[in-house]
Amino acid sequence: MSEKDRPLLIEAQDFNGLLLSLKRLGYATYAPTVRDGAIVYDLVDSADDLPIGIGDVQEPGSYRLRKRGDGSFFGFVVGPHSWKKFLHPPTVKLFTINSNGKIVANLENSDQKLAFIGVRPCELQAIKILDKVLLGGEYLDIVYASRRKDVFFVVVNCIEPGGNCFCASVGTGPEAKDGFDLCLTELLKPDGHYFLVRIGSEKGRELISSVHYRQATDEEVELASRLLTLSSEHMGKKLEIKGMKELLYRNLDHPHWDEVAKRCLTCGNCTMVCPTCFCTTVYETTNLSLKYAEKWRSWDTCFSQEFSYIHGGPIRYSISARYRHWLMHKMATWMDQFGTLGCVGCGRCITWCPVGIDITEEVKQIDKRDGEVKVKVE
Ligand code: SF4
Ligand code: SF4
Repeated sequence: MSEKDRPLLIEAQDFNGLLLSLKRLGYATYAPTVRDGAIVYDLVDSADDLPIGIGDVQEPGSYRLRKRGDGSFFGFVVGPHSWKKFLHPPTVKLFTINSNGKIVANLENSDQKLAFIGVRPCELQAIKILDKVLLGGEYLDIVYASRRKDVFFVVVNCIEPGGNCFCASVGTGPEAKDGFDLCLTELLKPDGHYFLVRIGSEKGRELISSVHYRQATDEEVELASRLLTLSSEHMGKKLEIKGMKELLYRNLDHPHWDEVAKRCLTCGNCTMVCPTCFCTTVYETTNLSLKYAEKWRSWDTCFSQEFSYIHGGPIRYSISARYRHWLMHKMATWMDQFGTLGCVGCGRCITWCPVGIDITEEVKQIDKRDGEVKVKVE
């Protein structure tokens, strides 16, 4: 490693300096914080707002916070929020129509600079996927484009994966490779609390020069690398993605789709928490004076019947068809549509499914009984 590429080291006490510098540069600083018993993303003023010493325990259909007994700043994985909510908001007013027929466009052209602090590598990949979907095609999403244009990414690598994480299987973590401004690995050593820092952009280089830092030693670089290797080997979940697309395509009539459907409540939680689900619907509202009407856009879910309603009825009437559509999109058809998987292995859909349906287990069940076809009753 050349001296130029050698990572830097900052002490945890200097982390706040990064936040203050971002604020001075005009960024709205968003980071993980604790609210209502969960880690959520919100505006923060200082490092004191981070979930210091808090970890999480995740299983299918289960999430709780725990005290770690240390001073870690990022000792948890991902909660119910994803960064999607800032770039592709849950509700947006598109325009207002006044009773005189005048249309007022409400579409923002945001000049707010956003700093996302504590972005996990899988989440950075999710944003790259959203970029492809919402910016890369024929139809530009102007709300997303406006919010996306100046985002500063402080990524934090995952040294302790959660019970439902499988980023190592889908190649999105636990270490970020590129696309960040700064990439940190948190090190809690006997002699202190540090962050190993890799610089990913000129903006990142300028920011780091605003705080006290030194070059990391070989031992510190090796420690970070060892922790990340261990993390990769101890993911809560695993998924074999080699041949998965073909497996799913040839099992459209597998009986397991009906078996999942018996458990699925079609609540749509999995799509709301997923950092890559991007579907929306539009609707109108009026006020009681009937002086104006508004057109709104909000997140939608492919688990509702209305989602696939086409002249006279939904094309995905059964729960089985809706679950299959969602899983197939994430793990197979997305590849044909956008050239990547639609899943980054964050595990949120497993944790926040009220009945603990586990996307990795459902694929495994189909794999185990590859080629089985459900019996059709005449
Ligand atoms: S499908 Fe599930 S595991 Fe994959 S990115 Fe979405 S929420 Fe995360
Ligand atoms: S898979 Fe789980 S979270 Fe998704 S719609 Fe069904 S019950 Fe809800």
